Amino acid sequence: MSETTDERIRRLHAPGIIDLHFDLLMDLYEKRNSPGLLAAHYLPEFEAGDIGVIGAAIYIEDRYLPEMALRVALDQVARLHAEVERTERFAICRTNEEILRTRAAKKIAVLITMEGVEPLGGDLDLLRVFCELGVRAICLTHARRNAAGSGGIFAASGSPRDGLTAFGRDLVRECERLGILVDLAHINPKGFEEIVDLTTKPLIVSHTNARKFYDIERNISNEQIKIIGQRGGVVGVNAILVGANKEKSTLDHYVDHIEHVRDLIGIDGVGIGFDFCEYLFQQLPRNVVKELAAKLTTPHFIPDLTNHSHARNLTRKLIERGFSDEEIEKILYANWMRIFEELL
Ligand SMILES: [Zn+2]
Repeated sequence: MSETTDERIRRLHAPGIIDLHFDLLMDLYEKRNSPGLLAAHYLPEFEAGDIGVIGAAIYIEDRYLPEMALRVALDQVARLHAEVERTERFAICRTNEEILRTRAAKKIAVLITMEGVEPLGGDLDLLRVFCELGVRAICLTHARRNAAGSGGIFAASGSPRDGLTAFGRDLVRECERLGILVDLAHINPKGFEEIVDLTTKPLIVSHTNARKFYDIERNISNEQIKIIGQRGGVVGVNAILVGANKEKSTLDHYVDHIEHVRDLIGIDGVGIGFDFCEYLFQQLPRNVVKELAAKLTTPHFIPDLTNHSHARNLTRKLIERGFSDEEIEKILYANWMRIFEELL
């Protein structure tokens, strides 16, 4: 009997999808007065989308900078632990073995990441502390400038021209030494170049899009994609900066980004970094949304790919667009698993 598309999706999803970028910790922290959010709100979405591993980012909003950054970061990790303890369904993982064990037990593996090193201030020793806390991937910057370097802006040119600071360079070397993945998401073009020169291991971009389709310095160019490929790394395709306007922000165009990365560096270089954050925007007061739009950009959410429960829509689309089972498995989880196996 031939397999239906739904059966095929279920089979392809069975090992669990890996999404390497989600701003979960920020939300858990902001809603710390309503405990149980992970189990009540996020778990059903993760389960509906067959999510197996989630990269949960420590991210510090501007209003906490600089004094509160370290404290809020620690509290975000504390919130995650408290939330994970309330359910049997998650485990915080630090190594590849722990991820494999967690998946074998049918639990969801949470990998703590950091988006912007503001919590470290300029103190390299604190990297060691966060490593002990389980942080396993680090983007040096978000869109801001910090003690390590500068982020790429949401425009085709105009990011700060300077690269990493001496602290930023030390951090990158120390990440490689400690076994923390160096994540090139958000870094400005000059910083990208410098990180490539400073490192030898595979590099990742946890969540980004191709400048070919949305030409902003926060996304990455064909040249940059090729460098990631040459280094045996993986580019996680982002679902919120797929196109410059609403009309271009479609599931088909998301798959165009996947195809583009595949065509440049091969299927082994493509992964998922959804960066779902529509729910965060909906919670914000209108004036804050306006402020963010002026400072950064207005993200355009893909209607049928706005949260983890929509993951099957993506797989259905990949099938429709002619991707083979082997290709889909690599995109959904196998490439990130290879990175974990090599580096964690
Ligand atoms: Zn980001």
